[in-house]
Amino acid sequence: MKNTEIPKFVTLNCGVRMPRNGLGVYELERDTCFRAVKFALANGVRLIDTAHYYGNEREVGRAIRESGVPRDEIFVITKLYPNQFAAPEAAIAEAAEKLNVGAIDMLLLHHPGRNDAKAYRAMEKALAAGTLRTLGLSNWTDADLEKFLPKISVVPALVQNEIHPYNAEHADVAKILRRGIAVQGWYPLGGREERKKMLGDATICAIAAAHGVSAARVILRWHLQRGLIVIPGSGDPEHIAENTQLYDFALSDAEMAQIDALDRDENHDW
Ligand code: NAD
Repeated sequence: MKNTEIPKFVTLNCGVRMPRNGLGVYELERDTCFRAVKFALANGVRLIDTAHYYGNEREVGRAIRESGVPRDEIFVITKLYPNQFAAPEAAIAEAAEKLNVGAIDMLLLHHPGRNDAKAYRAMEKALAAGTLRTLGLSNWTDADLEKFLPKISVVPALVQNEIHPYNAEHADVAKILRRGIAVQGWYPLGGREERKKMLGDATICAIAAAHGVSAARVILRWHLQRGLIVIPGSGDPEHIAENTQLYDFALSDAEMAQIDALDRDENHDW
């Protein structure tokens, strides 16, 4: 994508529209999560990413219900953990019950694992029944997709993988996008432990200074200009608000290339 205007929504392969930037709520516990989601929704964020594993689906659901924002303007993603794949119908029902916001906008399988195709096929049934609006996968490489797609009927709308300047996944992102599947980056700022290193990166800081914006905004804008969807995590109102300010400046092709060149295949998690 060029450094022209970036639409704030992506149309998925199933025709459903989803916001291009959102809030991730990994490691935000109970009231912190509730307050963060409520603040985000009050400040224009319309995409929330949670998971069974995060233990905060109830708080996300309550914040959505109490936000005053029309439900159909909000896009909520949750995920089934591999230890739920053997009994997927119960797991889907549990997610719907905990969130309690009507149809779940997107359900992902959190990681590949035993019974993942079985769980996905149960998700396909829930999609047909209207419990889910869209389906996706997380932590699936393009090679994993190649093996998985023949086992299922509904092509995933989205894949959510670890992507940031030190782990840019250039080849895999291009291949997955070519399949018509949207790509979303988790750890878009490099994750909790490594964030300070990335936000202090000399190349990123020089670009940030040239635009008069923060390093976080530069990194998130780099994701958007690559055609990705981002879900930076934070419980800090200032950061949540800052992470929405991604549409009023643009990186040049040369700046994009400079950040692209920081890639060193450095995973910051499993
Ligand atoms: P991140 O890369 O989004 O970085 C978060 C860190 O950056 C936090 O410490 C936060 O306080 C800080 N931060 C956020 N905005 C900032 C700003 N503007 N300036 C300075 N610091 C800022 O890492 P994350 O939150 O762990 O990941 C994002 C989301 O991705 C998670 O919340 C979760 O929803 C998702 N996720 C998914 C998986 C998966 O396996 N599918 C794994 C990890 C995370």
